[in-house]
Amino acid sequence: MTSFNDFGLHADINRALAAKDYTTPTPIQTQAIPPLMKGRDLCGIAQTGTGKTAGFSLPSIHHLLTYPHRANPRGCRMLVLAPTRELAAQIAQSCRDYGRFTKLRVSTVFGGVPINKQIRDLAQGVDILVATPGRLLDLIDQRALRMDDVEIFVLDEADQMMDMGFIHSLRRVAKLLPSRRQNLFFSATMPKEIAGLADQFLNDPVTVSVAPQATTAEKIRQRVTFVEQKEKQALLHHVLRSEDIDRALIFTRTKHGADRVVRHLKGAGIEAFAIHGNKSQAQRTTALQAFRSGQVRLLVATDIAARGIDVSGVSHVINFEIPNVPEQYVHRIGRTARAGAEGVAISFVAPDERPYLRDIERVTRTKAEPAKLPDNFGEMVRNLPKPAQPPRDTGSKGRDPQRQRDDAQRRKGHGEGGSRDGGHRGPRREAAAGDGAQPQRKRRFRPRGGVGAHKGSVKRVG
Ligand code: AMP
Repeated sequence: MTSFNDFGLHADINRALAAKDYTTPTPIQTQAIPPLMKGRDLCGIAQTGTGKTAGFSLPSIHHLLTYPHRANPRGCRMLVLAPTRELAAQIAQSCRDYGRFTKLRVSTVFGGVPINKQIRDLAQGVDILVATPGRLLDLIDQRALRMDDVEIFVLDEADQMMDMGFIHSLRRVAKLLPSRRQNLFFSATMPKEIAGLADQFLNDPVTVSVAPQATTAEKIRQRVTFVEQKEKQALLHHVLRSEDIDRALIFTRTKHGADRVVRHLKGAGIEAFAIHGNKSQAQRTTALQAFRSGQVRLLVATDIAARGIDVSGVSHVINFEIPNVPEQYVHRIGRTARAGAEGVAISFVAPDERPYLRDIERVTRTKAEPAKLPDNFGEMVRNLPKPAQPPRDTGSKGRDPQRQRDDAQRRKGHGEGGSRDGGHRGPRREAAAGDGAQPQRKRRFRPRGGVGAHKGSVKRVG
């Protein structure tokens, strides 16, 4: 199978694919589309970035067009569940793109935004609904949405759903779905408990896998530097100066850690945004858009906030702190080396993180290349610029109206967000507005105005 034309997809879909310049199906598309066109259930082991969204949405749109009928009021013909608002918005945008020459109605619902508009949107019924589980159940409880018309059910990023504590919501949704339906189940990893969940949803599925479980993408050059925790900031500055970076995602384990990294970078005149669950929706949207457009090249993120986000052109993933769950490492570094590009993953490992590194190496069956600290590192640590002051409104939730609304939602217990990461709430429509990534000239990060200009030669790490 070498061309999309071989699948026999509806002509309107082929037109949309041509408009998007897709010529060759990705491996998951080649494997998944034919059985899905036959109506089979599917269990897909694949990460975001593999083309899985088109893999499931193209045959589904084909089905909706081949058996056309209007969705019933408050009903939907295809339901896609995703763990985060960002991913839900991204999937909905892809469905809109692939269905742009059709009259299919695509709606997105997630928490953190007023529910009334969503109720109005659903009143006439929609063809494709992309939802996060909490808000979906809210709408069902308010009788604004019914599940008895669902013909195709997609559960995306199942492992993250479990991590975020959505298991009970998923079981509830499963009970409400009609028994005659096609089921698609996607997960980046397939440990036992996820396989158990898949069993509950799937009926004689075809299993397709594009990246063996928890193995690391081959195109990613992985490096590790052993460093004291308190010296990581200096190492980060060094890496940013010595590497050819288009765009870098910097991961921390905690929200405060992410803010601290940004403040330190700002102190050195380096622009970066943070994205995590304590940020207001407006801040998250701004950060993501700026990163997508290339306006800002560094995004500091916690795991939950960053997963599922598809931004092309991420040349580097920097693990400022390495994750204590090995699979999370695979997800993180998978943000780079997308769409055939090469990528670099650099991990900073403090003495107390070494056991985590050993777990990662065991699970991924790879060993990252050790990279030495530069000779003048002590001097770099001593000369590290002071961090910028935290913004005055940090912690004062009253100043950002969106934040006030988000918090009100949170208090009411509605909406989505990832229990582990503090709950991300608010509209993410903007996040779906295309990738917008322009090819950028490679650039090194140099502090402005001589701030933190370390003397002496700076060697490459690794
Ligand atoms: P996904 O894994 O679904 O998030 O897709 C990752 C990225 O690959 C998205 O930006 C898609 O637009 C893009 N993509 C998906 N399928 C293809 C294809 N066959 N050819 C080129 N790009 C694709």
